[in-house]
Amino acid sequence: MTNHTSQNMNEIKQFAVIGNPIHHSKSPLIHNHFISQFNFLAEYHKKLIENHDQLAVFVNEIRSSYWGGINITIPHKQAIIPLLDEIDESVQIIGACNTVVNKSGKLFGYNTDSIGFLWPIRQRQFNKVIILGNGGAARAVLHQSSKQDWGEIVLVARNHEKSALLVNDLNKILKYPIKQLTFTDLNESELMRNTLVVNTTNMGMDDDDPVFNIVYWLNHECIFYDLIYTPWETNMMRVAQSNGAEVINGAPMLAAQAAAAFQLFFGKYPDVDTMIKLIKDAS
Ligand code: NAP
Repeated sequence: MTNHTSQNMNEIKQFAVIGNPIHHSKSPLIHNHFISQFNFLAEYHKKLIENHDQLAVFVNEIRSSYWGGINITIPHKQAIIPLLDEIDESVQIIGACNTVVNKSGKLFGYNTDSIGFLWPIRQRQFNKVIILGNGGAARAVLHQSSKQDWGEIVLVARNHEKSALLVNDLNKILKYPIKQLTFTDLNESELMRNTLVVNTTNMGMDDDDPVFNIVYWLNHECIFYDLIYTPWETNMMRVAQSNGAEVINGAPMLAAQAAAAFQLFFGKYPDVDTMIKLIKDAS
């Protein structure tokens, strides 16, 4: 964290990541590193916000000139939206907000997960994308995938009604229909050359978590992108890699969404590779 003299304490802009739980968050580490590097007069904290009542009180507090902005993680990404003054197109479409900027007392909401997801694959072309899971992260992945020309998109999840709702919410930007499957409907014939398979479920955070069948079917012509970064390498990543598939973990996405948030806060885009290294060293 930057060292500040007592004279300028009131000028130090405050930033934080809020959520519940929040102790695991690497956002303070990342943001404070670049606050120091760019020599900004700012501090970035983590703050436990337990419920919606606390959220409403806190959101009012951050309208003060003392606050520059916040990042939001589970479970407040949806609940914060009605408390804001303006939201950008990404929040409107994805239905979740992970970054709020205080502009002279008005709160502006953004979603940087979608752009973060793209970062490690930004120069790539795929023939097909298979998205596993239909929660909050899947919304950002589907939003970004829909903007690319990556051929067919398949959404695989255990709750068909929830998938239908998600696709309906994103209908405005979808260029072509999304195929919706349950895990039991999914079979090996869905995999073709140059298929990107994205795990957006939280399966893999524990070592005992099951490996989805599709991961056993992957080969050297497929790319497996797991949004999880703790552990650094999940069981599914290990299986995919042993079958010859290229694997990507969630650290580049975490870093790139933080970089985009940092740019919204401070107007500077930090080095994403340095961020990935910081995250890896802290894992
Ligand atoms: P979420 O909204 O709770 O969604 C979780 C998804 O996983 C839901 O679709 C859920 O399906 C599915 N799921 C859970 N257990 C399952 C199982 N046994 N079989 C099949 N599906 C299962 O969580 P989220 O916010 O999307 O986060 C998901 C993961 O992405 C987390 O590991 C998170 O750390 C990671 N993430 C990473 C980044 C990054 O920057 N790298 C950003 C955001 C999220 P049901 O609805 O049927 O339960």
